[in-house]
Amino acid sequence: MSPDLKVLFITPEVVPFSKTGGLADVSGALPVELSRLGVEIKVVTPFYRQCSEYFISQRKKPITAVDSAKLWLGGRLQRYRVLKANLPRSKVDVYFLDFPALYGRDSLYHEHGEDYWDNFFRFAFLSKAALELSRNIGFNPDIVHSNDWQSALAPVYLKTNYAGDPVLGGARSILTIHNLAYQGIFDKGFLDSGDLKSTLFHSGALEFWGKINVLKGGIVFSDAVNTVSKTYAKEIQTKEFGYGLDGVLSTSGGKISGILNGIDYSVWNPELDEHIPANYSVEDQLGKMKCKLALQEKLSLPLDENVFVLATIGRLADQKGFDLIRAGFDELLKLNMQFIILGTGMPEYHRFFEYKAARHPDMISANLFFDEELAHLIEAGADGFLMPSRFEPCGLNQLYSLRYGTIPIVRTTGGLKDTIVNATNQSIDSGKATGFGFKNYHERAMLKAIKAALNLYYDDPAVWQGLMVNAMSRDFSWTSSAQQYLKLYSKTSLAKPE
Ligand code: ADP
Repeated sequence: MSPDLKVLFITPEVVPFSKTGGLADVSGALPVELSRLGVEIKVVTPFYRQCSEYFISQRKKPITAVDSAKLWLGGRLQRYRVLKANLPRSKVDVYFLDFPALYGRDSLYHEHGEDYWDNFFRFAFLSKAALELSRNIGFNPDIVHSNDWQSALAPVYLKTNYAGDPVLGGARSILTIHNLAYQGIFDKGFLDSGDLKSTLFHSGALEFWGKINVLKGGIVFSDAVNTVSKTYAKEIQTKEFGYGLDGVLSTSGGKISGILNGIDYSVWNPELDEHIPANYSVEDQLGKMKCKLALQEKLSLPLDENVFVLATIGRLADQKGFDLIRAGFDELLKLNMQFIILGTGMPEYHRFFEYKAARHPDMISANLFFDEELAHLIEAGADGFLMPSRFEPCGLNQLYSLRYGTIPIVRTTGGLKDTIVNATNQSIDSGKATGFGFKNYHERAMLKAIKAALNLYYDDPAVWQGLMVNAMSRDFSWTSSAQQYLKLYSKTSLAKPE
């Protein structure tokens, strides 16, 4: 395996500078782990308002890498700056495209439920400017690694505009699909603004039912495609999970693989976590009770060590199974527990949870905003974590929950299926059980799993304790995932161009 690989990692979000979901966690952790394995990796991402706010809050400043960068795109010469900083606790360079007209906005992708009208251009720019930057700084990558549709035009540009380029011509491309539900679909009219030839607009390339599908272009033009769990890699090749791209994916000649995401245990670890009032570990769990009481106090719930606290954190989207929670909510209210939700998303769910919390303030706490610190306290203070996803490419929250001894209750799909061992008599006896799973996407199945968890919690504390020990002892660090990425990089870099 060649440790001196050079990788250009293009991502629309990266922790700690910007984040809307799990992709940001991955982008903040995987490059650091890869650089430890000897890979020379450079990250390129937009400089959003979130990023400048981060630097202000830290009283730090990125340095200017390129003061007057220029790129021909959208029929004119675009002028911007490139800033640079390191990923925390590493020497990995992050290059920020500082273009306020495109990225200096309140949000990353949309506002008030509406996508920004110029998202095609904003992210065509990310893909192309990242490749240009590579040329400008003389970094000739072996691999260009794109993430999700927002950077999926990079492999298209590589194989068209940059084929034969002295710096980029030899690079191979990898696209990681973190969520197939988001594909970047736009009117054909945008093609020109992305400097893409009309000859690319056919069903074997960018065209998808008369529109541009950016992710499809990325899948077709990349040398390798992977997703973030083995089960999801299989699922997306079926009609049920393929979002219209199952055909393209299943005929991609075996270039699809699945690599599970890891967890950054320097950030998500109850032994070290700075956001929680008491640290704890698998050997000494006393602190978890303090966290539970602190959580109840913070959210104005009755202070009660013994009551089962069930929590969920995530985007309020149908994907995450909130329709099941809503459908089963009146049944949930009959159970002896407290329910905590932290999330933002679809207005209908905001209204629903606000209404329920107002009616049952002693039982329900609805926190309908984004709050990283509260997410940590919830992971530490809750007893159970609910993730009834309709589909789940990998899922991070169930992995955080395991480490915090907060037992996941999940629908067994995608990464949830690959990471949680359902508690049965047999798996409990063999010490393998780490959570509760249900298969059918129905609120009755979800309620059954929740009730099984509650019963065990109240009736058999010793077994529950055993479950917590199993959960906290599981290792989902990045080490093994990064090694699998390294293998994929090596294999892809050696592959002959098509
Ligand atoms: P996805 O990427 O599909 O949104 P994941 O489970 O992979 O789902 O990752 C979601 C990440 O976003 C987790 O780190 C989770 O804690 C975080 N997150 C989601 N919503 C919120 C919120 N409202 N406040 C704080 N963190 C959140």
